Amino acid sequence: MCHVMAAAPPRDLCTDCGISRTSEPKRCGQACQFIKPDYPRLEAAVHGRARDPERPDELFFGPFRRMVRAALKAPSEGAQWTGIVTKIGEKLLATGAVEAVLTMAPDPNDNWRPMPVLVTEAAGMAQVRGMRMGYAPLLGLLEPARALGFTRIAIIGIPCQVYALRALETSLGFERIYVIGTPCSDNTTTENFHHFLSLLSDDPDSITYLEFLADYHVELRFKNGAHKKIPFLQLPISQLPPDFFPMTCRTCVDYTNVLADITVGYMAGRGEQWLVVRNERGEELLGLLGDEVITSPVTSAGKRAGAVKGLIANTKLAAGGLPLRRMPHFMRHIVGWLMPRIGPRGLEFARARVEMKAAETMLHLRRAEKPRMKTMIPDHVWRLMAPYGLKPEPGETK
Ligand SMILES: Cc1cc2nc3c(=O)[nH]c(=O)nc-3n(C[C@H](O)[C@H](O)[C@H](O)COP(=O)(O)OP(=O)(O)OC[C@H]3O[C@@H](n4cnc5c(N)ncnc54)[C@H](O)[C@@H]3O)c2cc1C
Ligand code: SF4
Ligand code: SF4
Repeated sequence: MCHVMAAAPPRDLCTDCGISRTSEPKRCGQACQFIKPDYPRLEAAVHGRARDPERPDELFFGPFRRMVRAALKAPSEGAQWTGIVTKIGEKLLATGAVEAVLTMAPDPNDNWRPMPVLVTEAAGMAQVRGMRMGYAPLLGLLEPARALGFTRIAIIGIPCQVYALRALETSLGFERIYVIGTPCSDNTTTENFHHFLSLLSDDPDSITYLEFLADYHVELRFKNGAHKKIPFLQLPISQLPPDFFPMTCRTCVDYTNVLADITVGYMAGRGEQWLVVRNERGEELLGLLGDEVITSPVTSAGKRAGAVKGLIANTKLAAGGLPLRRMPHFMRHIVGWLMPRIGPRGLEFARARVEMKAAETMLHLRRAEKPRMKTMIPDHVWRLMAPYGLKPEPGETK
């Protein structure tokens, strides 16, 4: 079910999560992660406590009960990985735990464009499998869902959508909201993404799937069933315009969706999915999969510090453009071969990505939006950066 929504009023730093299109657009002020986020307060409200830097890995990934690698025994056709996210939605609807799932379907005119939908039948979850690039007003469906009389819903969202949802949750009038989150970084507009696809293939319309893998490759799939893996270092990044990633997606601070009940990603999965079960409701969601899911412990290998320092140096050199690696072509092949073998892997890869994102946020805000730093950057991001010598300058913290 899709709904016609009001147009989005102009906002600075906005990923159009949908709140500005509701009957109370002024709520952006309290809901937006780009305005004045308060992660410790919302973590405590959702999970019963804020992240505890003394517990292993919470500084990086937010509060959690446990993390596992996971795969569905029978992967769902058309899913981004094995389909854990949409299978959870399917089970919630099939068991009657919720009346609707708010999520993104492919736009009928452009498979890569996300289009917010309310799914009310378990079978309908098959149509929303897979990843679209871009953002769309998911939370604009909250009022239509209430108007239809739904009181128990689930939301599948990326971090900037989940932050706004949690900030307003108690005022929304639902009895129960399950939140299934995915990590998100380096998102861009669907238009920009089409340009990127055009650099990857002479026939970009034939590309049906793209994913950044934890083994430092991008996987592409094509309409004719062909697959291709390209090492990160050989991506045509140098041909992208400097503003390819919008400022929002360069400066958001919650890579791993810390306010979801369960985060479903791949970064620490070493080729499988990576689940971060954050609270009791997250356990309930994973429990719905019963023996259809196989889980195993997360592992870690390699050292991240060199890679993170390299990214920081390149981001500084790029001065607002994309952090291109200044490396001769033949070296890219050698390093591209070495990275999956000796680079950070498993948890260490996920920690590296979170630290890289924290550094980018800090450096881009310092260059382009300095006055926002004191309200937008939570303390834990500064803590993550301290070992790399990135410390707040006067006026950058509260
Ligand atoms: C823009 C984006 C960036 C991501 N970046 C990372 C990353 O850096 N690291 C990582 O570990 N994981 C990342 N993920 C998550 C990852 O790609 C998979 O979506 C996740 O692991 C779930 O796989 P699955 O097979 O269980 O999903 P499926 O069962 O295929 O379900 C995918 C779900 O995601 C929803 N969805 C698709 N596109 C969007 C969108 N643009 N906005 C909101 N919801 C959407 C679909 O509607 C569907 O409900 C990202 C996801 C998105 C959408
Ligand atoms: S709350 Fe949502 S709609 Fe409002 S400014 Fe933030 S991202 Fe945009
Ligand atoms: S990268 Fe950040 S701001 Fe951009 S869509 Fe993802 S969560 Fe939102």
